[in-house]
Amino acid sequence: MAEETRATTVASSEGVASAERGERVERTERRPSRGGPGGAGGREGGARKFFRRKKVCKFCVEKIEAINYKDVRLLQQFVAESGKIVPRRLTGVCTPHQRRLSSAIKQARNIALLPFAGRA
Ligand SMILES: [Zn+2]
Repeated sequence: MAEETRATTVASSEGVASAERGERVERTERRPSRGGPGGAGGREGGARKFFRRKKVCKFCVEKIEAINYKDVRLLQQFVAESGKIVPRRLTGVCTPHQRRLSSAIKQARNIALLPFAGRA
């Protein structure tokens, strides 16, 4: 039949560009009584130092199944300068790979390929 759909489109794409400056002014520490976890505003931008779009597990991408403890250059990417293993949420490594990674790092530490405690 004839098109009776209301015009649900349009009305967008107007105030997008100019809306960037306002809105950030008054933020007291009151929470809006929602109490939901996360509370993501969906806002991008702001003062984030490290922004990364998608974290992908490096081992999954490169299809490394067994992480070799002798591969120091690989392991070092996941060890902080202090010698600590970098947590998964920072590196984006998936859980099974992080498990293998951490044990590989620990093996490498034992034969002094990696430090238990680093410089800092
Ligand atoms: Zn993975």
